[in-house]
Amino acid sequence: MPFCKYLLLTLCVITMSCSKPSTTYDVVIKGGRVMDPSSSTDKIMNVGILDGQIAALSEEEMSGTTTIDATGLVVAPGFIDLHEHGMTDETYGIMVRDGVTTAFELEVGTDSVAKWYAAREGGRYVNYGVSAGHIRVRMNVLGDQGAFLPSDKAITDKATPEQIAAMQSLLAKGLKEGAVGVGFGMAYTPGATVEEFEAMLTIAKQNKATSFIHARGGLDGIKEAITSATAIGTPLHIVHINSSGGAQTSEALQLIQEARDQGHDITTEAYPYEAGMTRIESALFDGWEQWSDEQIAIHQWPETGEFLNRESFARYRAQGGGIIIHSRTEAMTMTAIASPLSMIASDGFLADGKGHPRTSGTYSKVLGKYVRELKVMTLMEALAKMTLQPAQRLETYAPQMAKKGRLQVGADADITLFNADEVIDQSTYMEPTLAPKGIPYVLVGGKIVIQEGQLNEAVRPGVAIRN
Ligand SMILES: [Zn+2]
Repeated sequence: MPFCKYLLLTLCVITMSCSKPSTTYDVVIKGGRVMDPSSSTDKIMNVGILDGQIAALSEEEMSGTTTIDATGLVVAPGFIDLHEHGMTDETYGIMVRDGVTTAFELEVGTDSVAKWYAAREGGRYVNYGVSAGHIRVRMNVLGDQGAFLPSDKAITDKATPEQIAAMQSLLAKGLKEGAVGVGFGMAYTPGATVEEFEAMLTIAKQNKATSFIHARGGLDGIKEAITSATAIGTPLHIVHINSSGGAQTSEALQLIQEARDQGHDITTEAYPYEAGMTRIESALFDGWEQWSDEQIAIHQWPETGEFLNRESFARYRAQGGGIIIHSRTEAMTMTAIASPLSMIASDGFLADGKGHPRTSGTYSKVLGKYVRELKVMTLMEALAKMTLQPAQRLETYAPQMAKKGRLQVGADADITLFNADEVIDQSTYMEPTLAPKGIPYVLVGGKIVIQEGQLNEAVRPGVAIRN
């Protein structure tokens, strides 16, 4: 070998060995089964985290200030919940145990977006965001007295053209203040006409924001939402297709598929429970006096666990509060959860330890019951519905989401570690706060929020997600 060539080779060897810097990562997740739906990666690897981001993914040894032994655990992107109502430390602390790292209130939303974000500054357990909500804006403009959902004027009144214009400018203001979408609950605002609905959708279109809607009851309500959104040409996400579709969930999914086949941007979501929950004083129960005894008896009062009769229903409706509605069969739930069209979202709500068990157990229940036990989809398919799909739903309008829902170098280190053989929900209608099993670690922005199954209350890395 000529001398110069030999020198070059030697130099290369020296450079190679020198250029391999021994990075010390903030956190190393060691030896877990890394699953990333965006790249179809499913491989035992180490994950190196630096400054809140995933800095390395490899089979090679890594050294970290903190090392988590992930042997036997799946290492997945943190779950993104597009539909949640608690929005308090209590609820965030419960959701993160179920693997959620980013939580959104997009259905009801708010009429004061800047205030909503300001109230959550200074760190939360999870990342958070909100929509500019038509329900709340309508309550504001019409002077409804309801606390969370409409209880009088926003249910009954038809808005004047001036009032519709006032609602439009409140929605536009909310989007300017950072809201990640526009929220609707036509089932809660029967007084709102299609013209009013479409006037609000126009604001969404002008801003290129997606609308998130709890449609009016039955297939007609879903048709109305799709027809208006496609006519205006604005993206639409239909919340809880299991609840809105009920016995006609398959037909409802078919409507969405047909709209998608025609090139419209329509998506949906589901939660894995046969019962829903909402406020007993809301418009959903208008005309309940005409119901049969059997219809009334599917309603459960969570404070006491009692199933209601005509007398107790009237009494609690006058008092107001959350009510559980056992309205669907297991087959309906399975249809909604298994559909490739539906993302997983909790619709969780919980306050002072009372509420719906889906707040604590949506994600662990899908992974344990529907993936492992019933095998209605693969683990990778389920993870895509919990991570990549919700991130993609939001990322064109809220670019922060393009770095979430993926386990890749450069992505935010929002990571959930679970044992695929053990993960399962434990919360019940009577004990809705019970933590799931099999989710020992959850990281948000590279910080360990759940450690050996316990909430680390001092760690609040969650940040605001804005458009
Ligand atoms: Zn909801």
